[in-house]
Amino acid sequence: MRIANILAQRQTFSFEIFPPRGDLPVEQAMSIAAQMAAQHPDWISVTFSAGGSGNSGATGAIAAQIQAEARTNALAHLTCLGSSRADVDTFVEELAAHGVENVLALRGDRAPGREAIDFEHASDLIAHLKASAPQLCIGAACYPEGHVEASSLAADIEQIKAKQDAGADFLVTQLFFDNELFYRFREACVRARIKIPIVVGIMPFTSTKQIQRMAFTCGASIPAAVIKRLIAAGEDPQSQANAGIEYACEQLRDLAANGVDGLHIYSMNKPSVARATHDALVECGYLA
Ligand code: FAD
Repeated sequence: MRIANILAQRQTFSFEIFPPRGDLPVEQAMSIAAQMAAQHPDWISVTFSAGGSGNSGATGAIAAQIQAEARTNALAHLTCLGSSRADVDTFVEELAAHGVENVLALRGDRAPGREAIDFEHASDLIAHLKASAPQLCIGAACYPEGHVEASSLAADIEQIKAKQDAGADFLVTQLFFDNELFYRFREACVRARIKIPIVVGIMPFTSTKQIQRMAFTCGASIPAAVIKRLIAAGEDPQSQANAGIEYACEQLRDLAANGVDGLHIYSMNKPSVARATHDALVECGYLA
């Protein structure tokens, strides 16, 4: 089903998984997806060489299997970097052959040797997909704190508007740890005449090291509330991970109470994260 149609009916709940790196079997990703499908998400998205990891080869196959075997809507990510026009067309044809109707069209994370070929920006890819595969439902990325390369949040929001104008049907946010930043961003989008639904992406942090890495790669700011929890968790890895789940569940409950279009969990291939966030959203009445 087209994600835009689901978003038109209800607030959504979804997960992201990433393909196994290197030559690890696709079955591993499918086993994770099957466990996540047990929480009845509206869709599961599959990354495309996120972080320049080079693991995009299995994205289409995993998306197809999520659709066919886990009987869950799949959202296949696709990037401009490293993809020619012909690559994009082949990828989309394969998705269509397997009934996958949803693509998240991205520029892609920069990495050595990963260059733009035919499409410079996500809006170029979106315009091409809209013209060449009008049956697709197209998502795009947005950044509540502004993209790391953007000169300002206002300049970045103009580019989000360009993605809407090129044909994006919905947006998914970058992770953030301070909901107030998202609420301000949402108001700024309304002022910029961005009308497509904005699905909120939340990632439970897993350790002090991981959140520091995220802050540097995506420019997400770390509020004092998070730092205090990590200090209280001390050096114990399990206590740090528990603090991350607790904090994410609090963020999700607050977002649910503030009328978001959808909640997307960067579940890092961990079915336990999918279960914990699902249960928190049942508890607060967001999910039945
Ligand atoms: P763009 O929209 O092209 O924006 C990139 C930068 O260029 C921004 O600063 C923007 O303001 C600016 N810009 C945009 N259009 C123009 C224009 N016409 N002229 C001048 N400047 C412009 N990366 C992966 O590699 N694989 C993944 O699977 C993946 N999944 C993601 C999922 C989500 C939900 C999000 C939020 C990000 C994901 N990323 C992924 C990361 C993403 O690819 C990077 O953040 C990338 O740096 C930007 O992608 P974009 O699609 O937002 O690019």
